[in-house]
Amino acid sequence: MRRLDASLCSVNTATLGFRAPLEDTVEAVARAGFGAIAPWRREIEGRDVARLARHIRAAGLSVSGYCRSADIPAATAADFAAGLETNRRAIEAAAELGATAFILVVGGLPGDSRDLAAARAQVREGIAILAEQARACGVRLALEPLHPMYAADRACLNTLAQALDLCAALEPAPAGPPVLGVAVDVYHVWWDPLLAEGIARAGAERRLLAFHVCDWRRPTRDMLNDRAMMGDGVIDIRAIRSQVEAAGFGGFVETEIFSVLDWWRRPPEEVLATCRQRLETVV
Ligand code: ZN
Repeated sequence: MRRLDASLCSVNTATLGFRAPLEDTVEAVARAGFGAIAPWRREIEGRDVARLARHIRAAGLSVSGYCRSADIPAATAADFAAGLETNRRAIEAAAELGATAFILVVGGLPGDSRDLAAARAQVREGIAILAEQARACGVRLALEPLHPMYAADRACLNTLAQALDLCAALEPAPAGPPVLGVAVDVYHVWWDPLLAEGIARAGAERRLLAFHVCDWRRPTRDMLNDRAMMGDGVIDIRAIRSQVEAAGFGGFVETEIFSVLDWWRRPPEEVLATCRQRLETVV
């Protein structure tokens, strides 16, 4: 297992609560000694992407991932097409940013649907289309399985095995590095009894594209925005990192903390310093 220092780590900009323009966040993350950053579409769309990419590079940062896709399942054909179009533009931006991967959080049940199987079929159809464009742009797509509590409203892709099965079905025997891979976020997968097998399989199939860390607070007060700082919860993050690295992952360890009740209320410098200290001691 690697000896982790900040230069091997990334900060997902959500961790700072989107309180400042991306340029300021880039400066703060670089000043804190991190090696990479993971921006969101909300910080990039409608802006001069080439200029932002230069700014990030000039600060000495890599882009560990670009977050995140628009929902794929849709209630109408027009909405389905609109989602794909948003994702196509995002893949172009990911290429311009030099992102390791574009992160796919695939979406849940559209409208008032109760048909989970149909939503999952739309996800498969949509990713098949996006994979073609990603291949042409030289961008890799990281399917991020989300904790099943989000199946209705955020992602009907809920386990690592499910994500890997989908990758294998859509891209069965890639000649070079696969376009499709997975993002392993400890918050979403730590509970999975098949996690170790899933990580080993992802490594063997060369699909480990991103590794996200935070912690699971007990009790959790908000399903979405109450992630804990690494070390303040119940996840054995180091055990999972050791599995991910044993499977061949050598990318950035990315901190991603949504915390409306706690960390988003603290000064960015304090958040970044704490992330760094925890990454170097408990992750
Ligand atoms: Zn994540």
